[in-house]
Amino acid sequence: MTDCIFCKIINGDFNTEFVYKNEYAVVFKDINPKADIHLLVVPRVHVESLNELDDEVLLGKLMMTVKDVTKKLGIKSYRTVINTGREAGQEVFHLHIHILSGGIK
Ligand code: 5GP
Ligand code: ZN
Repeated sequence: MTDCIFCKIINGDFNTEFVYKNEYAVVFKDINPKADIHLLVVPRVHVESLNELDDEVLLGKLMMTVKDVTKKLGIKSYRTVINTGREAGQEVFHLHIHILSGGIK
């Protein structure tokens, strides 16, 4: 989707560093961290939110990506968050999973 900030990041438009990537998702640092470690797991395909996701395999792959990236980075304790809908705090309408660890604000 051309006007989606996360699609642009996935496309490499901003030279964002990916701390992890696989066939299904990329993982990068949140620009406005709300914890000592704040990562975003973002599917390569554009899906607006969890409400629009109808691919249970992709959902599983995204959660396994959470597990893989935290293991790779040695993050043993963390919180995962998916904001769904504007009133729940979703600002970017491309599905993503927050990973928060240490000093969560
Ligand atoms: P949401 O509120 O939609 O669940 O989370 C969106 C997150 O994306 C926010 O925590 C925000 O700081 C982050 N974010 C928004 N724009 C950018 C960006 O251009 N680069 C990065 N790395 N993070 C972003
Ligand atoms: Zn997108």
